[in-house]
Amino acid sequence: MESVFKHVLRYPEEGWRPDLFNDSEMQNTFSMLDPGMVLGRMFCAQVEFELQTHLKQNLSPNGGPTNLPWLLRYLPDDEWNVSEVFGMIRQAARKDGVLRQMEPGMEVYFEKIYQEVDERAVNKFIRKLKNAAKEIDRRTLLHVSAPKFHQNWKAIIDECEDPEVTNQTVQEGAKQQWSMVIGLEMEEICRNLKNCTVLQSGGGHVLLLLDTALKGKELEERAKTILKKISEDWKKKDRGWSPKLWATWEGSGVELPFRKKRSVTYDDIIRSLSLEHAGNKQNREEAVRRWAIFGHKYDKRLEGDANTLYLDVISLGEKCWGKNREVGDSGHFENEKEVEYVCQGCKQKSTSDFYGDTCDFCGEIRSCVPTRSRRKTVEGFNKSRRLTAMIESTFGMIITEHNPREILSMGGDEMIAKIDQGAWGRIVEDVEKHCRKLYGGFLGELEPEPIWWAMNLHSGVEPDQITSEVKDSLREVNRDWGSRFVQPMFTNLTTISDS
Ligand SMILES: [Zn+2]
Repeated sequence: MESVFKHVLRYPEEGWRPDLFNDSEMQNTFSMLDPGMVLGRMFCAQVEFELQTHLKQNLSPNGGPTNLPWLLRYLPDDEWNVSEVFGMIRQAARKDGVLRQMEPGMEVYFEKIYQEVDERAVNKFIRKLKNAAKEIDRRTLLHVSAPKFHQNWKAIIDECEDPEVTNQTVQEGAKQQWSMVIGLEMEEICRNLKNCTVLQSGGGHVLLLLDTALKGKELEERAKTILKKISEDWKKKDRGWSPKLWATWEGSGVELPFRKKRSVTYDDIIRSLSLEHAGNKQNREEAVRRWAIFGHKYDKRLEGDANTLYLDVISLGEKCWGKNREVGDSGHFENEKEVEYVCQGCKQKSTSDFYGDTCDFCGEIRSCVPTRSRRKTVEGFNKSRRLTAMIESTFGMIITEHNPREILSMGGDEMIAKIDQGAWGRIVEDVEKHCRKLYGGFLGELEPEPIWWAMNLHSGVEPDQITSEVKDSLREVNRDWGSRFVQPMFTNLTTISDS
C-alpha cells in the first residue's frame, strides 16, 4: 500500500497500474488507461491543489517551484513516508476541500498510513521538502520532447512503397498505435538516463532535472548527449528507429532529426506498428473491462450501424506550451515573446516560428526549436498535469457511463470510438458536466476555456477527414455560442462529406 501511494503522490507514470511491481518492464505489461492510474493522477492533482498555498508559504516564499510530485521524485525513496504527506494534509488541507471529505474513509481503510505521524515528524518532512525545493531551483531543467507528431508521421508515410502498407486502414492503425505508445516509451527510456531525474512525463514531453547547474556551451553539449542517448535507445530496441527529438532550456534548444537503422525500411516501420495495433485490440478491450467496476449507467446496445465519436482536446500543445500569436482581435500582439524560436543553423532567436523555412538572420532554410523561460516551462508542465487528469478521467467516464461498442484509439488528447446512433448528444452533455465538476476542484486555478472538439460521424465517414483546416474553420462558427467546454462539430458545417 505504501508503494502504491508513493507512486500516486509522485504523479503516476504513463501505463502505470497499482498491481504492477516496482521493477517490471512497463512495456511488457502495458495497461492502457488503468483506472488506478487515472484516479491516482486526479488524487495527486487534488492534493497539490489543496496544499499549494501551504507549500508555497513554507518551502519557497520567493517563488521557486514547489510542486509536490517533483519534490517527492527528487527525494530518495527511503527519505519519506506516505504518512508524512497525510500528516501535512491533516495539518493544512482546506476545511471545505475534497480531501477532508475523504477523511472518514482514509481513517477506516488506511488507518496506519493516515494516523501514524505527529506534528514533529511532519515538520521534519517539511524541512526535507524545503531542501528539495532549493535543489530543484538551483539546477538546470531540460525539456525533452518528440515534436511535430503529424508532420513527422506524414514524412514517414511519404517514403512508403509497399501497396499493402499504403492501405489507409493499415496506416491509420499504425498512427493510432504510435500516438498511444510514444509517451510511455519515451518516459521509460528517460528513466534510465544517468545524472538526471525525470520530474515529469506525459504525452511525449519529459521534464529532466540535471544533477547540476549548467550554462551555455556546456549545457548545449549535455543536451545533445542526452538526445543522442534517447535516440540510440529507441533505435537499438525493437523499434529500429527514433523520432525527431528536441531538448530546450531557458534561452536555447537543440534538435536531433529522425534516425533509423539502415536495415529498417519505412514500410517496416508502418507494418510493425500496424501489427501492434491489431494485437493491441485485446488490450483496448481489457481497458474497458477494468472500468466496469464503476459502471452503473450501462446503456443497452442497439442494433444497426455504429456512428463514430471523435473527441479531442482543442490545441492541447498550445494550451501548455504557448505560442507566439498573430495580432489578436484587439489589434495587439497577444502573448508576445512567450516563446522564441532558435535557428538550428545560426542559433539566433526569432519571435516567429519559421520551421523548415528561411531564417531571417542567416537566410538559410533551417529548422528551429522553441525556447521558453524557466517559469513558462514550469507553468506548462503544471498545466499539463492538471489537464491530463481531466482528459483521462473524461475518457474513463465515457467508458463507464456510455459503454462504446469499440474503442479505436484512446490516448494523448484524443478518443475515437464506435458508438450507437443517437448516443452522441448524451455523451457530449456528460463531458460538459464532467468538466464543470473538475473546475470546481483541481482545475480551479485555471482560466476556464473551450476544451474539447466533439464530432459525430455517420457510418462510412472516416475520422481522418477531420483536418486542422476543418477545425480552424469551425473556431469562428463556435465562437458565438458562448462558454461551453465542449465545442460540437457538425459535419454539415464543414467540408466533410459522407459519400
Ligand atoms: Zn539562422
